[in-house]
Amino acid sequence: MSFTLAIVGRPNVGKSTLFNRLVGKRLALVDDQPGVTRDLREGDARLGDLRFVVIDSAGLELVEDDSLQGRMRRLTERAVDEADVCLFVVDARAGVTPADEIFADILRKKNAHVILAANKAEGRAGEGGVLEAYALGLGEPLRLSAEHGEGMDELYHILRPLA
Ligand code: GDP
Ligand code: MG
Repeated sequence: MSFTLAIVGRPNVGKSTLFNRLVGKRLALVDDQPGVTRDLREGDARLGDLRFVVIDSAGLELVEDDSLQGRMRRLTERAVDEADVCLFVVDARAGVTPADEIFADILRKKNAHVILAANKAEGRAGEGGVLEAYALGLGEPLRLSAEHGEGMDELYHILRPLA
């Protein structure tokens, strides 16, 4: 038995970068046609000896009208429904934004099992954002750098009991 992890959060926090790091080239569902918005991207993730399914709530980046909020909400709710656990990603460099609060609210209302991650935490520029992330009330943020591969050991230890 394995588990499914949904990576959720507002656009530009690094969800897809993390997804790609976890999945590498083992993409289960690919749709690389330009202009095609794929709502949920699913892949076979590997982290150490862990194997699990990971969902990236992709596609939001392409929508920039007033429907964004509703779309984000619906997409996130779908990802949460399909997952055993959610990795809620915020941007440690940008700090916590109103959009992050909306996501936190969705996850709380859904009573989702949430792992909070502050991405882009490499170096010192993310320190303030990591502290802000505590205020989301979702526990201690995991410091991640999806781009540089930092924090993956900690992620492994958090996910290991679920496998
Ligand atoms: P998404 O919209 O949440 O899927 O975010 P992306 O994965 O597309 O990343 C958005 C931007 O943040 C890109 O320019 C990435 O290169 C950058 N990024 C992602 N992870 C990191 C990180 O760990 N550190 C830094 N500094 N930038 C990152
Ligand atoms: Mg993305």
